[in-house]
Amino acid sequence: MRKISKIGVLTSGGDAPGMNPCIRAVVRTALYNGLEVVGIRQGYKGLIDNDMMEMKHRSVSNILNLGGTILKTARCLPFKTDEGMEIAYQNAKARGIDGLVVIGGDGTFTGALRFSRKYPDIAVMGVPGTIDNDLCGSTYTLGFDTATNTVIEAIDKIRDTADAHDRLFFIEVMGRDSGAIALRAGISCGAEAILLPERTTAIDDLIKNLKDGHMNKKSSSIVIVAEGDKNGVWDVAKAVQKEVKNYDIKVTILGHLQRGGAPSSFDRILGSRLGFAAVNALIAGESQKMVGLQANQILMTDLEQALNHHEFKLEPDLLQMMDILSI
Ligand code: ADP
Repeated sequence: MRKISKIGVLTSGGDAPGMNPCIRAVVRTALYNGLEVVGIRQGYKGLIDNDMMEMKHRSVSNILNLGGTILKTARCLPFKTDEGMEIAYQNAKARGIDGLVVIGGDGTFTGALRFSRKYPDIAVMGVPGTIDNDLCGSTYTLGFDTATNTVIEAIDKIRDTADAHDRLFFIEVMGRDSGAIALRAGISCGAEAILLPERTTAIDDLIKNLKDGHMNKKSSSIVIVAEGDKNGVWDVAKAVQKEVKNYDIKVTILGHLQRGGAPSSFDRILGSRLGFAAVNALIAGESQKMVGLQANQILMTDLEQALNHHEFKLEPDLLQMMDILSI
């Protein structure tokens, strides 16, 4: 069985609240087991630029409550090339790194899988860190819960002003190709409609529902539009404004505030569990896998499988419920 002596940890791609608790767990679990730990700055860029530092217990003090990532993150195009990967490998070897924990989303895992297939002597373990909740093999990804709570708090505030003015708000929320945040936020805030990339919304039906709502004396309406929805928030709002004259229509794009803020209790625990499990898996000789949460257990999935988006589906009961409860 392979024996790990030095673990490198990095955060890559989109940042997500909960990455810091995870880094802390990786560092302290590794040290507890007598391993050395190297923090790699700015994701794969730090591997290529040799921007790394030894990490000790105190390197991760007082970070549980911090959003973002103390290791910084980046999108690193050179890592996609063979030359870039070779430099990254040589730098990692020179440092004595024989195990890598990569915290990120599907792009990060694609890179990790390519890297470890090319250089199998460095074991790689993935931790799902993305607010988009779009990876197979983990019911929840790190940051999704915090981001959804942030969205809910913002929409509750918008509802106050929408109600005061009889307004109809179209609110765009993040999630790339995934409607996971939109769906949960919509149900949590009683949105009158939720537009998701996972299903097509006929604009005529939307207009009819909004008109009906107005006739039924709804004093405000909120329509949540996931950023991956194919209509796009501005086009939908314009199409509706033409037909629905009684409402004053406003568009709000929540944007990057959704990524920030202190991680929720859920994300602190999830980050800690996943970091702990990732190091233990490396020690047990595993590689090319992702640790994830399934039925409240931490289980492993092959990275290749985790990347298979087509298997990821929004929960059918939530989809069914969202229409029924919003009337
Ligand atoms: P996320 O991990 O949040 O999905 P990105 O898609 O931006 O974020 O990917 C993060 C990084 O992973 C990229 O900047 C790049 O360094 C690396 N990466 C993505 N795709 C590949 C690939 N096909 N080969 C090698 N590295 C990749």
